[in-house]
Amino acid sequence: MIALSLAEIAEVVGGQTHDIPDPSVQVTGPVVRDSREAGPGSLFVAFAGERVDGHDFAASVVEAGAVAVLGTRPVGVPAIVVADVQTALGALARHVVQRLGATLVALTGSAGKTSTKDLIAQVLQRKAPTVFTPGSLNNEIGLPLTALSATEETRFLVLEMGARGIGHISYLAGLTPPKVGLVLNVGSAHIGEFGGREQIARAKGELVESLPEDGTAILNADDPYVRAMASRTKAKVIFFGESGEADVSAENVRLTDTGQPSFRLHTPSGASDVTMRLYGEHHVSNALAAAAVAHELGMSADEIAVALSEAGSLSRWRMEVTERPDGVTVVNDAYNANPESMKAALRALAAMGKGRRTWAVLGKMAELGDEALAEHDAVGRLAVRLNVSKLVAVGGREAAWLQLGAYNEGSWGEESVHVSDAQAAVDLLRSELRPGDVVLVKASRSVGLESVAQALVESG
Ligand code: ATP
Ligand code: MG
Repeated sequence: MIALSLAEIAEVVGGQTHDIPDPSVQVTGPVVRDSREAGPGSLFVAFAGERVDGHDFAASVVEAGAVAVLGTRPVGVPAIVVADVQTALGALARHVVQRLGATLVALTGSAGKTSTKDLIAQVLQRKAPTVFTPGSLNNEIGLPLTALSATEETRFLVLEMGARGIGHISYLAGLTPPKVGLVLNVGSAHIGEFGGREQIARAKGELVESLPEDGTAILNADDPYVRAMASRTKAKVIFFGESGEADVSAENVRLTDTGQPSFRLHTPSGASDVTMRLYGEHHVSNALAAAAVAHELGMSADEIAVALSEAGSLSRWRMEVTERPDGVTVVNDAYNANPESMKAALRALAAMGKGRRTWAVLGKMAELGDEALAEHDAVGRLAVRLNVSKLVAVGGREAAWLQLGAYNEGSWGEESVHVSDAQAAVDLLRSELRPGDVVLVKASRSVGLESVAQALVESG
């Protein structure tokens, strides 16, 4: 963080100081909410959760070197006391980003935020010091904490913004107002909670509404809901997409024999070839989005293409490919799933598995509301159309729908199996897998299929 005195922090958050002998003492960072991360110069933010109350750790964080606690009551050590910690944290982040010399880039979308954020960070880092959201910390607490981790040296601050309803993105964009706002796609993630795609589009579009006139909106031309957001912003608009009409586009898109996307990148400043290390065609769209951001921030097509070709995955369980010594390939995409990402992962499996036996070990896609049956049915059908060799549907009702889709599409009998839980899937696969097989493991977070992927990797 940029150094701030306790007096200044108290003023910014409208808090009372308690047990602070010298208010000119500075917080140099980091700002932490996990007491184990507190160290010299840090500010500890005490949230009162259901099971754990951060205030209980006040003494131990100060012992570890923390300068003060930001909380809702005096705790016997230096503290800034406020009515609401989340609001205070937001106010502090807002104050700090105004003083940073960094360009703020924010992105949202239904699928691919973390993957794209990781790509953007890896491209921009080549040009100048970049701070970005770790993992998927994209909510009203993770976002300000990330922003507060920027320093005077930071030139680019890349922030993932998640939305679970109308007004969320507006709120986040108010805390850390972006100069560049990117919207990836409007899919069906959380459609049950939102109540329809129109509503999702409304919520995601709040990002471009927040942009200033001298800002840039970066929009996916291939997604009609996102394209239409161009009319909702005062900012300049740059489109990315797979067709040549977009400002940043891809030509000759193909998957290599190993399932990695390869294409010629076109930007307004030139063209250059990209072959990615990441797996799955959905990364083409993510890479174009990242390229559009990097172009806008002054990078050449050649620089961007090299960076995209060398970029790896920074976050776990997203198309993580492991080659077992016995020649079985395990693709762990168990981080999360929605209809778009299920289909993308199946296509990647099909590309990687040409001439090999392929297994799709799939579980439920959560939060689909009324569309749940149709979407699971469609994924089961796609597995058949892509010639996946075996479908293992794991779990309850939704797994039955996956299997039914496969059955109806291809009269599938033995090619698809329905098992009740992760352990049953592991038992089945352990006895059935043969050298050369490729196994994709994917479901919504709540299903916890990473345990299957882990067991398969370890039993090789
Ligand atoms: P969350 O809302 O959980 O933070 P996210 O938007 O950050 O998710 P990622 O974590 O990047 O998304 O990816 C989630 C899943 O979607 C992964 O399985 C990934 O393979 C897939 N995915 C990534 N990019 C795309 C895309 N452009 N279109 C469809 N699926 C994608
Ligand atoms: Mg994410």
